[in-house]
Amino acid sequence: MNFSNKLIDWYNLNKRDLPWRLTKDPYRIWVSEIILQQTRIEHGEKYYHKFLKKYPNISYLASTSNDELLKIWEGLGYYSRALNMHKTALIVQEKFDGKFPSKYSDLIELPGIGDYTASAVSSICSDEVQPVVDGNVLRFLSRLYKIDLPIDTAKTKTYFKNLGFKLIKGVKPGDFNQAMMDYGSMVCKPRKSCCQDCMFSSECVAFNTDSVMQYPFKKKKIKIKDRYLNYVVILSDDKKTRIKKRNSEGIWKNLYEFPLIETKKESTHNDIIKKLDIDFLELKDVKRIKHKLSHQLLHISFYIFRVGDIFDDFISIQSLNKYPFPKPLNKFISELV
Ligand code: SF4
Repeated sequence: MNFSNKLIDWYNLNKRDLPWRLTKDPYRIWVSEIILQQTRIEHGEKYYHKFLKKYPNISYLASTSNDELLKIWEGLGYYSRALNMHKTALIVQEKFDGKFPSKYSDLIELPGIGDYTASAVSSICSDEVQPVVDGNVLRFLSRLYKIDLPIDTAKTKTYFKNLGFKLIKGVKPGDFNQAMMDYGSMVCKPRKSCCQDCMFSSECVAFNTDSVMQYPFKKKKIKIKDRYLNYVVILSDDKKTRIKKRNSEGIWKNLYEFPLIETKKESTHNDIIKKLDIDFLELKDVKRIKHKLSHQLLHISFYIFRVGDIFDDFISIQSLNKYPFPKPLNKFISELV
C-alpha cells in the first residue's frame, strides 16, 4: 500500500472527533480554520461554538460591528484575523450573493485567506486537489524525507506544496489533508514524536539516521523585542474610569485599553507621575505583569490613581466587560471589578 492510502487508513481509524468534521459547509470550515491558526484545538473548539452561536451564517457576521466581533474573539489573540473575517463577510454578501465560496481560486482572493486556508476549505468542501502546507505537514514531511530546507522561506513552502501535489494524487483530497495534519500533531509531534509507534518508521529517513529532532529547522531566529507599556488607570470614588480605543497599527488594533504611556525602559511611578503632569491624582497602587507574544515581551505596568472629580468621558468599571480588551488587560480588569 502506498504512503497516502496507508495514511488515510490510519486517519479513518484514529481521526479526532471534532465538531467541524461533521460538516462540509464552507462557511463553518472557514470559521474553524481561521480560529485554529496559532491556536490549540481544545482552546479553539470553545471559540468555534461561541462564534457560530453568535454568527450562524455569513449574513449575521457581515452585519456585526467590529466591537461586537472583537468581544467574541477576546482572548484568542491575533485580532486582525477577526477583522479580516468581517471584511470577507461583506465581500461574500456582495460578490457571492451571501454564499460562501468553496473554490480555491475564489477563496484565495478574500482578505485573511492564504494558500493554507484556501487549500483546506476547497479540499474539504469541494474535493479540490489542493494539498495543505501547515506546521504539522512541514514537520512530518521534513522528517520523513529528511528535507534540508529551512521551513520559514517562501521557496520551501512551494517545495512542500509541490511534494503535496505528488502525494495527494488518487486519494480524497480533504481526507488526505486532514490526515496529514492529524498525523503531524498526534504522532510526529514537535518534541515527543512517537517514532516507536509510527507506521512510517522503517522508511523515515530522519528516524533511521537518528536526526529526528534536527527537523524541521528555520533560517531566521526570532528576535524578541521588549516593550514597556504603562497604563494609567484612573479610578473615581464612585467606581468609574477612562478607556480608549487602540487605533495604532500593530498589536491589539481596535481593542480597548486604559490611557497608555509607552516608554523605552522600565519606569518608576515617579517617572509616570512626572510625565502625566497632573497634580490632583493620588497614586494608589502599581501592578506589574509580563506578557509574551510571538515576537514581543510586554512589560506591563498598571498605575492605579484615585481621583475625586469625574471627567465627562468616564464610564463605570462594571460596564468594562462590554468592551473588547487584550487578554492581559482583561485579567487585570477582572481583579478590579
Ligand atoms: S518515525 Fe518519527 S520522525 Fe519519522 S515520521 Fe514517524 S514519528 Fe515522524
